Amino acid sequence: QARKQGGNNHQFYTPQLQLVSLAPLSLETDLRYALEREEFEVLYQPQVDMRTGQIIGAEALLRWHHPERKLISPVEFIPIAEETGLIIPIGEWVLRTACTQTKFWHDGGFGFLNIAVNLSVYQFNQENIIQKICDILRETGLNPASLELELTEGSIVQNPEATRRIFSELKLRGIQISIDDFGTGYSSLSYLQQFSFDSLKIDKCFVRNITTDSKNAAITIAIIQMAHSLKLKVIAEGVETQAEQYFLSQYECDVMQGYLFSRPIPAKEGYQSKAGQFGAESVEVVNGKKLL
Ligand code: C2E
Ligand code: MG
Ligand code: MG
Ligand code: MG
Repeated sequence: QARKQGGNNHQFYTPQLQLVSLAPLSLETDLRYALEREEFEVLYQPQVDMRTGQIIGAEALLRWHHPERKLISPVEFIPIAEETGLIIPIGEWVLRTACTQTKFWHDGGFGFLNIAVNLSVYQFNQENIIQKICDILRETGLNPASLELELTEGSIVQNPEATRRIFSELKLRGIQISIDDFGTGYSSLSYLQQFSFDSLKIDKCFVRNITTDSKNAAITIAIIQMAHSLKLKVIAEGVETQAEQYFLSQYECDVMQGYLFSRPIPAKEGYQSKAGQFGAESVEVVNGKKLL
């Protein structure tokens, strides 16, 4: 609280106040060193093709192994990374690590795997974002067509002109774009017709209780049908039960992701995910560089 009032504040000091106000600040400080201290790990959650049951890709999900507080959820630290601008180097590290790992899987005979990487609005809004993505693809040697970038609706409607330009640049290079957490933003549906992208990810809050909650069921069916008539692929996230899987299959949802198939897992366990093998071992990646 005191921090918000500027650096040079003269607040009355009480030990209690210090405890309260320093907690988020220390997390922020720790986050500054997390990259160089190699405390981040990318986990991979398989995505399963509804028709064949095969794993066709994975989503890269960031984890922070804090030395004292153990595992911290991205829900907690991504907002801090965004406030501080640290999301830029961290996001680049995630992209480089995920591309390096996927290239390794491709070389090991799993060339069909796509990798989905979440992109923060702050990354997306960088002047040179296309250049940065292309540099990482060139460095790692990953086929651009195997990369899918996940953006939220909020980040694409912020600056329509820039979005249109960036989307067409990405498309030109064969990079795929998907809209994450679809249905949870506050934007009008007109953006669906304004921008061209490849897939919609139905947010897990709609998938939840799909078989017992008729409202969630209605929303999910409507999203699938709308996406298909717009020629978009539909990915359901947060699929936890066989009943949910069955329901989604009936309505021809294309791809599913969720604990039913596998939790997000370390790269080295990719060959033994619950949903089947999706890569042989892992490459050791430190600071985005492959160690051979
Ligand atoms: P998201 O992109 O929507 O990712 C899906 C979240 O749902 C992940 O949470 C995943 O672990 C979780 N999930 C998957 N299947 C199930 C399921 O069956 N049931 C339930 N209850 N949850 C499931 P996670 O890994 O904690 O990530 C949370 C959010 O943090 C992500 O949501 C994304 O917005 C953000 N995030 C994670 N990694 C990154 C990253 O590298 N960069 C950026 N910018 N954001 C990231
Ligand atoms: Mg995502
Ligand atoms: Mg999502
Ligand atoms: Mg989500």
